[in-house]
Amino acid sequence: MLRNPMNQNLPRKFKIAFSGCQEDSGLTPIHDLGARAAIETVDGRQVRGFEILIGGGLGPAPQLAQVLEPFTPADDLLPTVAAIVRVFDRHGNRDNRNLARLKFVVKKLGIDNVRALILREREALRLTMAGRFPPIEVWEERRSAPLQPNRSLPLAGDLRSARWRATNVVPQKQLGWASVNVRLIRGDVTAGQLRAIARIARDFGEGTVRATNQQNLILRWMPLGALSEIYAILVREDRAEPGAERLVDVTSCPGADTCQLGITSSRGLALELGQMIERELGDLADDAGVRIKISGCPNSCGQHHVAGIGLYGGARKFHDEQAPTYQLLLGATLAPGRTRFGKPMARVPARQGPDAVKALLELYRVERKPEETFDVFVDRTGPERLRSVLAPWTELPPSSETPEKYLDWGSDEKFKLETGTGECAA
Ligand code: SF4
Repeated sequence: MLRNPMNQNLPRKFKIAFSGCQEDSGLTPIHDLGARAAIETVDGRQVRGFEILIGGGLGPAPQLAQVLEPFTPADDLLPTVAAIVRVFDRHGNRDNRNLARLKFVVKKLGIDNVRALILREREALRLTMAGRFPPIEVWEERRSAPLQPNRSLPLAGDLRSARWRATNVVPQKQLGWASVNVRLIRGDVTAGQLRAIARIARDFGEGTVRATNQQNLILRWMPLGALSEIYAILVREDRAEPGAERLVDVTSCPGADTCQLGITSSRGLALELGQMIERELGDLADDAGVRIKISGCPNSCGQHHVAGIGLYGGARKFHDEQAPTYQLLLGATLAPGRTRFGKPMARVPARQGPDAVKALLELYRVERKPEETFDVFVDRTGPERLRSVLAPWTELPPSSETPEKYLDWGSDEKFKLETGTGECAA
């Protein structure tokens, strides 16, 4: 697909995501094209394939992808993708780059019309390109390194390592092996730490490190029996933070620190929120049902629309003085059948963001029902109550009384609304 000349001059970028099951870690609903693995029984035979979704995307005009086909056999994947790309190439907006994504084609023409165009195109491709699409080969995950698994689990008995084991280690389907999630606070890792992580991959695993879409690194094929040794190396490298992909694992885009379009320091707020949760809401830190994601402007590179608690940066005048702010969105979920974006609840000054989030999480801690997910809690509690909990954190006294509250996180300089042009920057 990438080398195809037709794909070199598309109206704009085109993002594709795959997920191996309904858990959907690949985040298919927010991509131009999402493919979720599925198996269907056809004529008494189990056939591998995909549920295909199209037209998703975030940014200031977020759109959830819609189903193109509930089941596309794997053999039909390439003609289907080629047909989608061709329809985008033909109907995408080339005059206005702000409207030049597939989601706007779906919005303008409607999913039924776009589906009809794509299926007709696929039919034509089947006839004209018969035999020219390579077959999809099933990838078999295999370990190449000689180390043998050890099925026992000796791990230092202290609480911190037990917590790391509970949150950062996931047993693989292959008995005796595990994946280790190396949590990178704000996605940062030093050159020295990267070398140490690479050594772990080489010495214990099969030599590769996988970057996740949650700003962490995954080490696969770690023998269970070597976990205590691996943990000790990560501790020595200061890279053994527990809580990977839990509430405390706050992620953000680069924000105003380096991004031309950034308004606020989303990285600064991410650090503050993570530390506040660890310090003051320790019992919730490893909650797997709520994630916090932050963007430094409405463009949503930090994926704030799809987090239980999402925040994006802006600016507002209080008493005639500009201060950095965050819009809080609550209750997003990508759970199959319930997929939705977060709902805007309140806008808070950046320096009061941690207090606002803390108030919200304290309410969640006290009032949630057993097994209740955060999005269900948000619905049951209702916007009126949630807004009243956040209200004390939405205003500021004059800067003569609290000058520090008019600053951004990580800055001691007066806040100025300054943005440039261009794409976001890491
Ligand atoms: S444009 Fe920049 S500041 Fe805005 S969301 Fe993207 S990376 Fe963050």
